[in-house]
Amino acid sequence: MSDGSSPSSTATGRTRPPPGEGGVARSCVLKGIAGSPGVAIGTALVLGDTKAAYARRHIPPSQVAAEVERFRTAVSDAKQRIRDVSARLPAGPLETNAILDAYMTMIGDPMLIERVELQIDAEKKCAEWAVAQACDDIGRMFGPAEPTDRDAYILERRHDIEFVCDRLLRELTGEPHPIIPRLDGPVVVVARDLSPADTASMVREPVMAFATEIGTRTSHTAIMARALEIPAVVGAGDALSIIRTGDTVIVDGLRGEVTVAPSEALVEEALGRGARHLAFARGLLSARNEPCVTRDGEPVSLMANVELPAEAIFALDHGAEGIGLYRTEFIYIDRATMPSEDEQFALYRAVVEAVAPRTVTLRTFDIGGDKFASSFQLPSEMNPALGLRAVRLALSRPDVFMTQLRAMLRASAYGDLRIMVPMVASVQELRDVRQLMAQATKDVDKAGQRRAKHIPLGIMIEVPSAVIMADVLAREAEFFSIGTNDLIQYTLAIDRGNRSLAPLASPFHPAILRMIRQVVRAAAANGIPVSLCGAMASDPLAALVLVGLGVRQLSMEAAAIPEIKEALRRVTATDCERVTETALTLDTAASVEELIAGHFAPGLYDLLTGSTEQSSLPHAPAGTVERASPSYSASDS
Ligand code: PEP
Ligand code: MG
Repeated sequence: MSDGSSPSSTATGRTRPPPGEGGVARSCVLKGIAGSPGVAIGTALVLGDTKAAYARRHIPPSQVAAEVERFRTAVSDAKQRIRDVSARLPAGPLETNAILDAYMTMIGDPMLIERVELQIDAEKKCAEWAVAQACDDIGRMFGPAEPTDRDAYILERRHDIEFVCDRLLRELTGEPHPIIPRLDGPVVVVARDLSPADTASMVREPVMAFATEIGTRTSHTAIMARALEIPAVVGAGDALSIIRTGDTVIVDGLRGEVTVAPSEALVEEALGRGARHLAFARGLLSARNEPCVTRDGEPVSLMANVELPAEAIFALDHGAEGIGLYRTEFIYIDRATMPSEDEQFALYRAVVEAVAPRTVTLRTFDIGGDKFASSFQLPSEMNPALGLRAVRLALSRPDVFMTQLRAMLRASAYGDLRIMVPMVASVQELRDVRQLMAQATKDVDKAGQRRAKHIPLGIMIEVPSAVIMADVLAREAEFFSIGTNDLIQYTLAIDRGNRSLAPLASPFHPAILRMIRQVVRAAAANGIPVSLCGAMASDPLAALVLVGLGVRQLSMEAAAIPEIKEALRRVTATDCERVTETALTLDTAASVEELIAGHFAPGLYDLLTGSTEQSSLPHAPAGTVERASPSYSASDS
């Protein structure tokens, strides 16, 4: 715990450190989880604003009147709040009251009210979404999308609209957040959390890194950041109460630290570390076309997990032998209407063609849980992770599901395509999917559209019941892919987004190792391929255990492929099997990780720390390596 007085001190505290000269916080370090490797230094943009956090939800027609009422209450509460502020102001400059009066008028402006109510009524948008939309529309009426500094009038009017929008959203969400100023140039985004869609949009924005208060290495924000190669620290609790927009911050995605208002010396040091990491990553990348074979000649196929079609090329550039997981749910996120069959077909076809002749594994949509898609108009659930999600949702919406299946079947004409179903918990679900797929196939044939003669249908193994039934499922599924992000969540009963429980969610837990072994054996007995596509595959030590368990196909975010390939090329499969055999006799995650680290970490020091500085620290004692990706040991906090 820090007193915040030293430039290198660690702040885990609940309060913002006392301001130093010029009102800038004195340097402090927030501990989080290394979400995505790399080091970035820049100006913070704190997304604590209501606009970033409001829900984009569709409402059922029966809720329209209540939603309009909620909006009207927000209008009158917002006005009252301004009146209260005005009353507390000392009798002072007349302009202040005039400005507040003007804001009150704008909040009650009939044009704004009419537009918001129309969005609620006609578009069935929730009040927050309707307010944001209406304010954006009105803001655009004031002139060009990107006004220059000389367009002072436009900028001021936009600012006024933003203020009004923020006031109303604050009333609706009940969250007392400040307004964010717009910053020019690259920024470090700091937020409580970011949705996968927010993270995806960063590829277009000048975002150099991000830090979030919640999340873990397997939360979707971290997965996306790694895919986009944006350094990220997640689970940096209290970031919002300590960091202010405009602060200089270092986001160290290797150590899982965010340094606020660093000294020059710390900036220098971070720049050096970032440069060394880049050199290291580039060095690995240059070996991307080397075969992925262990020292004793055992080939291991490394594939990529992708979310966005554009990532397919990026994946090949990083040496991916195919796409082991294409998370198609991103097509459904952040839009009001469902993607059409033709739209999906064009996307899938583009990916399949880009990757051909290599395999593309398209996963049918995995919506629900932490992947929210407003186009589905899902009711809120007490426990979304255990609710209507993934294959359950698909089977309950056959119209939407069949549209996707038809698009996938049509794309199969352009390369090597497999279809994979998420979260299968029973044999019946697989049978139901197969039936719908047969129907979709008939539709495609009837329409005279081309498709591959046979499209393998496989399942993800991510819930314990699927592991227990793996021998039965292996008779009907054409391949397995083990999704350890969810398998760990459901087996150990640990929310994958829960930062404080993250250290317990260990892939080295003996229960997880036994489950993987059981699935690998069931697949082998039935002659079907098995891969693993959870974040476990991108952890160098865990990847060696997977090889030891008999997994020969790993799928991971593309950026991790060069590192995992290098790790596998340094070991023998025989050694992995021997050490894993011993690991399976141990009884705790910590003892398993200690055994694996003790045996392999010295030879992988540079890979585990993400640095080329191996020569200065040739053989770190077992278990003492400060890993670039988070250690999963129980002592990690
Ligand atoms: C998993 O659960 O391991 C997985 C790969 O799927 P997702 O992370 O998309 O839930
Ligand atoms: Mg999953």
